[in-house]
Amino acid sequence: MIDFQKLRLDGVYRQNDADQLMLRVKAPAGVLSAPQAEAVCSIAELFSNGRLHLTCRGSIELHWLTVDQLPEIFRRLAAVGLTTRGACGGAVRGISCSTSGRPGFGVAQRVARQLHRHFAGNPHFEGLPKKFKIGVEAGYAGARHLIQDLGIVHTGTGSEDERFDVWCAGGLGREPQAAFLLKQAVTAAELLPLAEAVVRVYARHAPAGKRLKFVVRDLGEARVRELIEAAVAPTALPQQSLAGALTVDTGLHLCLPVFAGEIDAAQLRRIALVAAAHGDSTLALTADQDLLLFFTDPAVLERARGELTTHGLLPATAGSVVTCRVCPGSHECRMGLAPTRDVARRLTATLGPQGQALTWAVSGCPNSCSQPQLADVGVVTSKLVKEEDGNRTPRFDLYRRSGEGLGEAVDSGLTLDQLLTEVARLG
Ligand code: SF4
Repeated sequence: MIDFQKLRLDGVYRQNDADQLMLRVKAPAGVLSAPQAEAVCSIAELFSNGRLHLTCRGSIELHWLTVDQLPEIFRRLAAVGLTTRGACGGAVRGISCSTSGRPGFGVAQRVARQLHRHFAGNPHFEGLPKKFKIGVEAGYAGARHLIQDLGIVHTGTGSEDERFDVWCAGGLGREPQAAFLLKQAVTAAELLPLAEAVVRVYARHAPAGKRLKFVVRDLGEARVRELIEAAVAPTALPQQSLAGALTVDTGLHLCLPVFAGEIDAAQLRRIALVAAAHGDSTLALTADQDLLLFFTDPAVLERARGELTTHGLLPATAGSVVTCRVCPGSHECRMGLAPTRDVARRLTATLGPQGQALTWAVSGCPNSCSQPQLADVGVVTSKLVKEEDGNRTPRFDLYRRSGEGLGEAVDSGLTLDQLLTEVARLG
């Protein structure tokens, strides 16, 4: 008898009652080397359906796997330095970095990779009450620090070293909660002990199945601050390193849109080949589920653009793609209440020029994995309703974001037709 609950720490979720599985691969800071991308493509072709899902947190998901395939898949991933450990279940999840390509991305990557090395597979930080999400950002663009259990934002270089703001106890799901600012002007050397302290406080004080935001709700922000302060261990040798960024920092990059984060292994392989031949041999998985390639020479970038356009991997017209984050929904997720990709296709086909200029996100259940509260317009599938003919059909909540906080529901319980009518009104 397989204990699917235990498999979660290895990044495995049961996808359906037929015991088919989803495996989530961590890519620290959302960056893969070209050989790592090639290894993941081979695994998708050999063991899955040849498709890959890029998540908003810079991880890669493979679906339709079976338990007997896992040892060989883990072996192949380890051979290229990748792990799935802690990608699901009660652990420090993959360290995300949504600000790929922006100034400071190299610094954010270094920190994200250091945290990844420290937490991934570390038994002191496994068996947590629920997931613990860390995001390291190169700045405040996108506001993703608000939805992390620990959000680290690079704010620039102080007199001697890099400085960071640290945010705490954010999260989405059924009860979205924006993070609070825990500390400012934190040095790189202070980050790791502080991150450890926050995870320890979470592990000690959260009831099973609850995120850090519930501890803050129970004990109050002031008490949580005290607990964290008391849990910070003094370090004999503060960690500091210039090593760790995979991408070049020239500001030259190409963004390849990937609808709903769904990509064929053959397409990803070709992109990895272009990255290896013309770029810095890396690919960044962006927070909008697209791919970013990095270059050192403008002429070579143009050559790569031509090659990618010829292969249909880059649209010929810049700006012709709507930004819409989409979770797997009922296509592949056990929790999904709606076929999110179909909904997103119909939704984006409805949009006029004004709507196309907005950012969109569609989630297949209230867990909000596509971060709908951070899009200009977010759609959350809230429930299934039994119709007169006995069929169960989804209902949707519509979110709008205007200020600096999380988006808020402006409409709820819409049928798909009602949702499309509301969306069409946005222009
Ligand atoms: S939002 Fe719900 S349906 Fe979508 S991936 Fe997350 S858990 Fe699955």
